[in-house]
Amino acid sequence: MNILLASSEVYPFSKTGGLADVAGALPEALVKLGHKVLVVSPWYKTLKAKNAPLWIGDEWVPFDNTIETCGVGVLEQHGVTYAFIGHHYFQRDSLYGYEDDTKRFCLFTRAIPQAGARLNFVPDIIHANDWHTGYLPMLLEHGWHMPSGYVRKPSVFTIHNVQYQGNSGLDETLSWLRLPGFLRDSYMNYFGSANAMQAALGFAHRVTTVSPTYAEEIKTPAYGYGLDGTLRHISGKLSGIVNGIDTDIWNPKTDGQIAQTYTAKSLTKKVLNKQALCERFNLDVNKPIIAVVSRLVDQKGIDVFIDGATELLWQDWNVFVQGSGEQDLEAALYSLTARNPGRFASFVGYDEALAHLVYAGADTLAIPSRFEPCGLTQLIAMRYGTIPIARATGGLADTIRANETGFLFDHLNVSGLLWATKVARDAYDNHSFWQSMMKNAMAQDFSWERSAQAYIELYKSIHG
Ligand code: ADP
Repeated sequence: MNILLASSEVYPFSKTGGLADVAGALPEALVKLGHKVLVVSPWYKTLKAKNAPLWIGDEWVPFDNTIETCGVGVLEQHGVTYAFIGHHYFQRDSLYGYEDDTKRFCLFTRAIPQAGARLNFVPDIIHANDWHTGYLPMLLEHGWHMPSGYVRKPSVFTIHNVQYQGNSGLDETLSWLRLPGFLRDSYMNYFGSANAMQAALGFAHRVTTVSPTYAEEIKTPAYGYGLDGTLRHISGKLSGIVNGIDTDIWNPKTDGQIAQTYTAKSLTKKVLNKQALCERFNLDVNKPIIAVVSRLVDQKGIDVFIDGATELLWQDWNVFVQGSGEQDLEAALYSLTARNPGRFASFVGYDEALAHLVYAGADTLAIPSRFEPCGLTQLIAMRYGTIPIARATGGLADTIRANETGFLFDHLNVSGLLWATKVARDAYDNHSFWQSMMKNAMAQDFSWERSAQAYIELYKSIHG
């Protein structure tokens, strides 16, 4: 199958979040299954590539009632072809956060079929991701000046986070995209303004989220950020496919960033990582460690964890938190660390090498998220035999098997969290039970190959 995947960010070239990881890993996994993949993404000023893409020339892109010229750069890596769209819109210090973001990504979206055609790539499936490429399914269906091979092609749209939707004025959006006026009354219309994500929900042939439970949750007002009604309406074509992790980077058997490598068969060696972590952060090594590795933002429920921290110490846990984000949460961590020497430690900042040691050295990982489209930290923790204690939401509910590979709780408040940590703390004292739980967790398959297989099944269901 020929698959075109469009994404506003793709690892390792550009990244602000999980979308980049998916756009980086899924195409490689699809190629390994024997498919041909073209990834189209913007050529940012900050593009990180060992070898610069080869500039193959300019394309005329129908845009804003005229024609814009966009450059196309091409790169091959691990069997995947990347086409990068160049335009001064993307020559800025950050990927997003500008007033004209919707317009910028309408231009990007408009340039995608043009770039694909320039490379003589005739797709069987076009896979768009998040609001930045949300208008692509509608363009394929109704766009003027579309290259042959792209008209009415089957499309898949994946929601990585429904919170961000891409809003703009209806008329201006139609003229940016050079689409006919009757589309004013289509799915792009969200209470009188244009909404890129809702357009995608309406026009894509299939809509996915990055976990089945998140696909259910976003159909409710509490999680749908205003699109729950539309999501309920299109639920017949909505499903969830869980992300994978890079099992080469996250492998306790070969990980060069931890103090001691180990496997499920040599679990006794895991404790050397705990010792290294405790030495570095002055923690008492004889108590179990409950750790957090997270962005410190509202979504992750770290405020609840902090509120329950003192009682966690009473439950006889040592606590280690690694994260960065909101200032009040960072300040609370500094204060807890200062007040509880030997028992509570923290690292405020982003440090990938340290995260490896934490996954290897901790006994449990707390993930009290308010919502979690998929989540990676629980997958990584399980691979390192570190037991997740997580809120039963989104991908956390789908990937953690309660009391077999981790612990789940429903209510996001201090009592909900402490109930689960108490159950885990008691289980920890049952040595043989805990050992079998660690082995169960390490035996799970969270490879991208598994997810890629699920995407192929989905693509096949709409490819004629
Ligand atoms: P999100 O993308 O919402 O932040 P995920 O669970 O999908 O959450 O992915 C988080 C990723 O970021 C994981 O790989 C985790 O190890 C990493 N991470 C989060 N915070 C830090 C930090 N402070 N230092 C290093 N890595 C971090």
